[in-house]
Amino acid sequence: MNEILKAAVKPLLKWYATEKRSLPWRERRDPYAIWLSEIMLQQTRIEAVLPRYDAFLEAFPTIEALAAADGDEVRKAWQGLGYYRRADQLHLAAQVICEKYAGQLPADYDALRKLPGIGRYTAGAIASIGFGLPHPAVDGNVLRVVARLLADGDDVTEAKTQRKVESMLQSVIPQRQPGDFNQAVMELGERICLPNTVPLCNECPVSDICVGRCKGVAADLPRRAAKKQRRQEKRTVLVHRCGDLVAIRKRPARGLLANLWEFPNEEGQLKMEDIAGRYRKATVEMLGSAKHIFTHIEWHMIGFRIWHAEKPPLPDSIWANAAEIDEIYAIPTAMRFYAKQAFSKAKE
Ligand code: SF4
Repeated sequence: MNEILKAAVKPLLKWYATEKRSLPWRERRDPYAIWLSEIMLQQTRIEAVLPRYDAFLEAFPTIEALAAADGDEVRKAWQGLGYYRRADQLHLAAQVICEKYAGQLPADYDALRKLPGIGRYTAGAIASIGFGLPHPAVDGNVLRVVARLLADGDDVTEAKTQRKVESMLQSVIPQRQPGDFNQAVMELGERICLPNTVPLCNECPVSDICVGRCKGVAADLPRRAAKKQRRQEKRTVLVHRCGDLVAIRKRPARGLLANLWEFPNEEGQLKMEDIAGRYRKATVEMLGSAKHIFTHIEWHMIGFRIWHAEKPPLPDSIWANAAEIDEIYAIPTAMRFYAKQAFSKAKE
């Protein structure tokens, strides 16, 4: 099987040399910039990363600048990318790099792996793209391309399949262009060997050696064990408004959406009369329902805006105006639907 992977190296490098997309992180050779792009691109579409990548590097141009920043500042710059734990881990890793490696990423796969938020894939990507070291970087795209190229029906959600693919790629990765090779396989997966549909084999540079295509099984691969159902959670979001201010509170430092700012909310879906009964002097307005899907949970939310003439006591909350929410406090995408309405005028 490795013969097929070996034979795929040259055509993939040739294809990548002419077909690769121009992306801001490909213009830079700075390992920090490569690391940032890899973290931002995890579970996030390129289109969402593009407008935020340069702005983040402008705000924190070096690892030292990132390490010295406040956690809220970093999360604010991350706003819109979701999965904020990545931002916290990036920040923490920058501090470790300053303490242990004088502010420079170590040019060593094992040392990279030990940094917070850097798994096998990311360490391989930084090592190969940032430092030219021959390490594979196996993500979902790479697993799909390899499964189809070899017509391999092993379950790609299993760690042992991922290790097997990594070790096969390790033995064929070109010593002189490891970063280009890794990016070529990933880009082929993103643009040609497409997920959840029929791959564009007619445009593929390795179609003549692809076993999955020859056997007519490519579209059925890779194989994945059935996913567990997500937990469904009903929540009520309360946008307390007093003059030009709204109440927000910081989420706990651990767990879902750690350290982000949110509108007070609680489990269950309350009714208008429940809220009106709780805040008798206020005017309550329905904001509608919204849904947000996390990896393991789905939030089904209903929201109300509560107009107060005087600030009510709200334990753990602070009051902020629109500019402060815009510039200082990162509100997660899960609450974007309510954040958009928080400062609009009252309905007539
Ligand atoms: Fe994927 Fe088709 Fe190329 Fe095989 S020939 S790697 S299935 S795009």
